[in-house]
Amino acid sequence: MDDTCIFCKIVAGGMKARLVYEDDLAVAFEDINPQAPHHVLVIPREHIASLDAMSEGQDAVVGHLFRAAAAVARERGVAGEGYRTVVNTGARAGQTVHHIHVHLLAGRDLRWPPG
Ligand code: 5GP
Ligand code: ZN
Repeated sequence: MDDTCIFCKIVAGGMKARLVYEDDLAVAFEDINPQAPHHVLVIPREHIASLDAMSEGQDAVVGHLFRAAAAVARERGVAGEGYRTVVNTGARAGQTVHHIHVHLLAGRDLRWPPG
């Protein structure tokens, strides 16, 4: 746990979030500023600052985030129509919270390339 990290606080229950999924390794909750009809963040319980900070021993937990995102998409009935999973890494990609997270976006047509 990083005491300065808002996502660690959500995992610990010290900060409110609308949880939509949780298991031993991951927690998922509604994004506070949704960019699509479905915008969920899937994060590891363990603090990993970014994809760039990820180590080999964390392969399983980071892979698990994507399976959890797929489970949320199926549970919401959007898996068939399609959805996007995004991991922003670093300043130029717009990463603002330094606890790795997978954005799950669905419920509208998503343009490519992204902005
Ligand atoms: P990033 O820009 O780092 O890829 O994504 C961070 C995301 O976290 C943003 O979409 C932002 O809206 C969301 N976010 C930031 N603070 C909070 C918070 O306190 N609660 C929730 N639920 N989402 C947050
Ligand atoms: Zn954290």
